[in-house]
Amino acid sequence: MKIVAIIIIVIFLGFVPGSIAQTPGPPVTEESIRADMQLHVCKNDDRLEAVKNLFKKLGAADSEITIEKFDSVQNVVVSKKGKTDATIIVGAHYDKVADGCGAIDNWTGVVILANLFASFRNMPTDKTLVFVAFGKEEKGLVGSNAMAKSISNPATSSFSPSHRQITGTWVSRSSDKCAGVTAQPR
Ligand SMILES: [Zn+2]
Repeated sequence: MKIVAIIIIVIFLGFVPGSIAQTPGPPVTEESIRADMQLHVCKNDDRLEAVKNLFKKLGAADSEITIEKFDSVQNVVVSKKGKTDATIIVGAHYDKVADGCGAIDNWTGVVILANLFASFRNMPTDKTLVFVAFGKEEKGLVGSNAMAKSISNPATSSFSPSHRQITGTWVSRSSDKCAGVTAQPR
């Protein structure tokens, strides 16, 4: 299972026209993405801390990073306040399957997630943006389901998650352009 907000990226571009060029995030280069990718770790138990460290590397303060604990899972939540309480949740899971080190599935998603946060952190937006790295998604969408159940506001009735399988290809992003990625339905 992969949750990567490819569709939401398009939505972002739609509701903040022009502002990307005005207030760019930190420069992102092929080298910086490679460096971010190197921060993945092979043990599931170590990945939550790795996610926190990546967000910190990309500018998140300790006070901006929250660990939401549920019965059997922990999600890493980093919020960026907008002008309103209307909220867009952007998610990627940080856990991995038993085999391998989970670089593509799904550290690529985590890297995009954290870089999106960095890009939008200092940008005025109407909506509040909540970046979430979900735990135990490979165990059956445990982290995202736990978060969804915890949201009781009736306004969330239009909540409509969009799941996409990322291919791990980061096409381009410079200091004044948003991310371009390739994806396919899972
Ligand atoms: Zn996955």
